[in-house]
Amino acid sequence: MNHLDGAAATSDVRRAVDVVVIGTGAGGAVAAATLAEAGARVLLLEEGAYHRTEEFSGHPPEMLTLLYRNRGLTATLGTPVIGVPLGCAVGGTTTVNSGTCYPAPDYVLERWVRDEGLGDLAPPLMAPRFAEVSRRIGVTPVPEELLGPNARLFRKGAEALGFAGAPIPRNVKGCKGTGVCAFGCPTGAKQSMNLSYVPAALAAGAELVTRARARRLLSDGNRIWGVEASLLDAKGQPTGRTLRALARATVVAVGAFYTPALLRTSGVRHPLLGRNLRIHPAARVGAMFAEPVKGWIGVPQSYHVSQFEREGIFIQGIFAPPGVEAPSIPGIGREHRERMRRFSHLGSFGALISESGSGRVVTVPGGQPLALYSLSPPDCRRLARAISLTAQVWFAAGATEVFTSVRSRPVLRSMAEARDFGDRAVGAKYFDAMAFHPMGTARMSADPARGVVDGSGRVHGYEGLYVADAAVLPSSTRRNPQLTIMAVATKIAADLAASG
Ligand SMILES: Cc1cc2nc3c(=O)[nH]c(=O)nc-3n(C[C@H](O)[C@H](O)[C@H](O)COP(=O)(O)OP(=O)(O)OC[C@H]3O[C@@H](n4cnc5c(N)ncnc54)[C@H](O)[C@@H]3O)c2cc1C
Ligand code: SF4
Repeated sequence: MNHLDGAAATSDVRRAVDVVVIGTGAGGAVAAATLAEAGARVLLLEEGAYHRTEEFSGHPPEMLTLLYRNRGLTATLGTPVIGVPLGCAVGGTTTVNSGTCYPAPDYVLERWVRDEGLGDLAPPLMAPRFAEVSRRIGVTPVPEELLGPNARLFRKGAEALGFAGAPIPRNVKGCKGTGVCAFGCPTGAKQSMNLSYVPAALAAGAELVTRARARRLLSDGNRIWGVEASLLDAKGQPTGRTLRALARATVVAVGAFYTPALLRTSGVRHPLLGRNLRIHPAARVGAMFAEPVKGWIGVPQSYHVSQFEREGIFIQGIFAPPGVEAPSIPGIGREHRERMRRFSHLGSFGALISESGSGRVVTVPGGQPLALYSLSPPDCRRLARAISLTAQVWFAAGATEVFTSVRSRPVLRSMAEARDFGDRAVGAKYFDAMAFHPMGTARMSADPARGVVDGSGRVHGYEGLYVADAAVLPSSTRRNPQLTIMAVATKIAADLAASG
């Protein structure tokens, strides 16, 4: 196979290709496959390793070390500190994600057309791209038998309140409902990039070099000519060997945190680079029931409530193993122990918001990104309301108590308390929030004063330099973004291929 593991390289590596694509996540893998299938000579670089499905044990501590950056402990700095885990392996964060796939809603695409001059992202033009990506990665709604008791209970509550909801569309072929999607799918059902678009890129002739950390882009003034990378050993330490790839086009797709850092370290300048960071702040809302729930059965993210999407609130299943759920269960000492003893009675859903505020990614000495992000007062209100609505569903389903992930009021005991929770102000510092969808730090706009890249992903003011990952999304996608990243990356790569 045309794959070189950087750890095994016995000398420096030199390549000259048409296109070098850096990053193998939702954006990079799709861009590489699209370009290779169009006939370009493509080199694909990835900092992490190329793991086989047999290595995915589903055991969280092991898999956090194997598949995540910093064992899943990446976070924003601000109030509150928000954990934003990132994948670091072939497939990027898609290898560890929940498999949920939505196209961006038409009203979001229409806003991008209107505000950013991105006519090519109009709903009728994006529909075939969404359809093509969905076909290739097998997007289908979760069948009834894999919904799991956690989601069924939540659906019962949502229906009692009249809230619109549905099973979630996911990129799987033959999902067995083992419930460990966030730790690498051990059955190979989830069609993450390591099992779909990366093999397609290789089949079309692309070369993959793993354990290759891009350090800086090669440039001559504003013309970018490729990339220099450090080759890494099995522990992620530089071996002392380097890769130098000369390319007519360089596509950066190392994710919304790392893309602005790599561009800046390489001398690329744009006043908006790193700005406009959106993350979809979210909170885990747990619920205790008198009867056992056995929430670990079935697909963890299998059902959503979309009733409040226009308000920027989206509610989805999120059930994790005990060690991961434990920090969001309130109490210390005996109280916490008692609740953990009743783990089989726990239900768990997540409430995420499309924020109106934003953060930014700065670059610290050594070229590492630092994400600065604080919840704004309107976003605190929105997140509190999202938690309140999720709690209301749980009480409608029969919960005896609900855990809010808010330190100033961690437990709610009735529907009335759940409603009241949404009406009160909560300070940013009290949220135990998390986020999974960093985006927007190299936003796309036809207008160089509003965006870092143009409608074809080309960095304004530079030649030969493209971005094709979550960084280009101009604003929140309202829902989980991976399918939109893939569809936009298809468009960027197709434009690049067409430009010759
Ligand atoms: C636990 C979890 C669950 C999620 N669930 C969902 C979901 O169900 N649905 C959904 O739509 N979204 C989900 N997401 C988010 C989704 O996976 C991301 O939005 C998406 O993968 C981002 O794509 P990307 O191409 O921008 O970056 P990534 O997929 O993160 O890929 C970036 C790649 O670049 C590599 N890289 C970084 N720096 C370098 C460097 N210097 N040199 C070489 N390589 C480098 C990284 O190792 C990584 O492989 C989830 C995220 C998490 C953490
Ligand atoms: S639930 Fe399905 S997609 Fe998730 S890890 Fe298990 S088999 Fe894979």
